[in-house]
Amino acid sequence: MEKHINIAIDGPSGAGKSTLAKRLAAQLNFIYIDTGALYRTVGYHVRKNNADPTSVEQVVPLLPSAAIDLIYDEQGRQRMILNGEDVSDFIRTQEISRYASDVSALPPVREFLLDTQRRLAAENNVIMDGRDIGTVILPNAQVKIFLTATPEVRSHRRYLELIEKGEKTDYETVLKEINQRDYNDSHRATAPLRPSEDSVIVDTSEMDLEQANKALLDVIAEKTGVQK
Ligand code: C5P
Repeated sequence: MEKHINIAIDGPSGAGKSTLAKRLAAQLNFIYIDTGALYRTVGYHVRKNNADPTSVEQVVPLLPSAAIDLIYDEQGRQRMILNGEDVSDFIRTQEISRYASDVSALPPVREFLLDTQRRLAAENNVIMDGRDIGTVILPNAQVKIFLTATPEVRSHRRYLELIEKGEKTDYETVLKEINQRDYNDSHRATAPLRPSEDSVIVDTSEMDLEQANKALLDVIAEKTGVQK
């Protein structure tokens, strides 16, 4: 079987992973997979069932009733389908961000989503973004990038994104949320957020989108020979 190219992009919330991964996927003709959306969809399911997202006893019995599909619309955008319903527009709120962060700390949830991620990567040339793609999901990915920026820069970017979507929030609240999620994501016992030893660390604090895009294209070209 032909071996596909897998590019893993990990890093904390708001580092620009999804924006950059989407652009790179379009530039290189790869499929973009946003794995955070999988955890968000589980978080949404847990919220809908009024369960405590930090309780493994409450969350695990709900997993069998979560049929999650990842599909692409005509514009090539990833959509999340939960039990036949497109929930893509409901999973981006700050509340669901918290639920996603909480359920993602539970090992059975990570196990539940593992096969889907590995299957997609085995069947396609993918750029997959997440927290543990290079360390756990795709340890053999040809390219591993750890994308980061200071919490202040990331919060500012996330704040602008939320405002643009019409969410009522302020910078201080976003900064607090980002710091809390960073803490949760990097201190959990299972698959904590950390760069793998073979990842290239790219700090985008001082870069604009074009500069970051170019930096990542350079890393990919060097590791795989694949060029825009
Ligand atoms: O990337 P995004 O902010 O959409 O992810 C939502 C939450 O899902 C993160 O805060 C993180 O806790 C969790 N997540 C994870 N592993 C991934 C992707 C996301 O634990 N591969």
